[in-house]
Amino acid sequence: MAQHYDYICLGAGSGGIASANRAAIRGAKVLLIEAQQVGGTCVNVGCVPKKVMWYGAQIAEAIHLYAKDYGFDVDVKKFDWATLVASREAYIERVHAAYGRGFASNGVTLVQGYGRFVDNRTIEVNGEHYSADHVLIATGGAPTIPDIPGAEHGIDSNGFFALNEQPKRVAVVGAGYIAVEIAGVLHALGSDTSLFVRRHAPLRGFDPMLSQALVDAMAAQGPTLHTDAVPKAVHKQQDGTLVLELENGERHEVDCLIWAIGRSPATGNIGLENTDVQLDEQGYVLVDEQQNTRAKGIYCVGDIMAGGIELTPVAVKAGRLLSERLFGNMPEARMDYSNVPTVVFSHPPIGTMGLTEPEARAKYGENNIKVYNSTFTSMYTAVTAHRQSCKMKLVCAGPEETVVGIHGIGFGMDEILQGFGVAIKMGATKADFDAVVAIHPTGAEEFVTMR
Ligand code: FAD
Ligand code: NAD
Repeated sequence: MAQHYDYICLGAGSGGIASANRAAIRGAKVLLIEAQQVGGTCVNVGCVPKKVMWYGAQIAEAIHLYAKDYGFDVDVKKFDWATLVASREAYIERVHAAYGRGFASNGVTLVQGYGRFVDNRTIEVNGEHYSADHVLIATGGAPTIPDIPGAEHGIDSNGFFALNEQPKRVAVVGAGYIAVEIAGVLHALGSDTSLFVRRHAPLRGFDPMLSQALVDAMAAQGPTLHTDAVPKAVHKQQDGTLVLELENGERHEVDCLIWAIGRSPATGNIGLENTDVQLDEQGYVLVDEQQNTRAKGIYCVGDIMAGGIELTPVAVKAGRLLSERLFGNMPEARMDYSNVPTVVFSHPPIGTMGLTEPEARAKYGENNIKVYNSTFTSMYTAVTAHRQSCKMKLVCAGPEETVVGIHGIGFGMDEILQGFGVAIKMGATKADFDAVVAIHPTGAEEFVTMR
């Protein structure tokens, strides 16, 4: 006989935890099932450890690039990778403990084990059956490895976080968030790092200004960017070193190769064939605007959802809104997937929200778009020999000049964007931006003083 709950969340990552806690707070009897570590990708092998490594990289840059011209006689004897990893993992342990306290106080029951659907209402974990009136699929995804000879000699982003020693020479393959972030961190921490992208630049889907500025920043300060670099094979040599062979015939010898070419949904083995849930061609779960799958009573949020945005706060918000709809007396609650702000923790960081300039021109027409740009040297770096450019852009549409896109790359951009996101979500115009008195001296003030 199955143990019965009001709500089962399969997967205790960003989406599952948020939805489970909110449902329990609203009075539901909730079971949360997790196969690996509570916190999922974000906490264990994603945002959190990545950001700690990025902070480590910021300290390295402060010491090596900027400290001297601020008058510090910095003599660093060594950087200990293992210490940084130990601090990071201790922090993650504290996050795990905080989750445990949250589950206890909200009344969420956690079961550790790999869950599989037996039917539309029942999940089997470790031989036990659990049923519920409502079931959430929030099983996320996993890194994709290319189908080329020798690919298994490389590691993925999970493998990057498992490194106990700093690799000396690294090849990072990919052109998205993860490739850019990992390559930047490794380079700043002192690894000889090359980033291999298939076309002319990384982050090609972003506003062209951002992509080009990142290429320029890499040209000035590294890592080494290899463009039009399509991997053909990986060869492991007798001494353990790897050779990345490209389609163009180039061969690059490294000690570590990291694949960062995208992620795939974790739908393969969770028993969805026993349900009425339907998947798209890539294996993502099809949902409607209120996270309903094609199976009544089964819902889906997060990275595994078709047409979603693979960001933690998106999974969290969708999960909470779903619980408000199911258990919080908010029948209309639904996630708004438009205008989601996002940051790439590159060097320097990128913040972006809304339409790129080409997207805005295509949507509103050439004559209905006005674009404001600003380029300046961040003051933090301007007093040093390592001057670093900041670039910002506002894309405005219509006679009101509604701000439909905001993009920036430069020192502090990771923290600048959030507040502007509120303004854009409220429909702010260029005049609204201009009506705000600038905060001086900051980088953010450029967004309210553009001409
Ligand atoms: P996940 O967090 O992946 O959680 C799914 C959980 O389900 C996992 O714990 C998994 O073990 C579990 N599971 C899977 N199958 C089963 C099963 N059958 N039974 C039980 N449990 C199961 N996003 C940001 O917003 N900011 C960032 O800075 C950022 N950095 C990132 C860096 C990296 C390297 C990566 C890989 C991702 C990053 N992301 C970032 C993306 C973010 O981590 C994901 O969007 C987010 O974790 C998705 O949440 P989720 O709940 O959909 O899935
Ligand atoms: P991605 O989809 O952003 O980028 C994958 C890149 O790999 C693409 O540029 C693609 O052209 C390239 N690629 C695909 N196949 C390839 C191949 N065979 N050889 C070489 N290159 C190939 O994926 P990602 O970087 O793995 O990140 C996954 C998602 O996680 C992101 O889209 C993002 O939503 C999320 N994420 C967010 C953050 C953040 O918020 N700062 C950080 C990391 C990840």
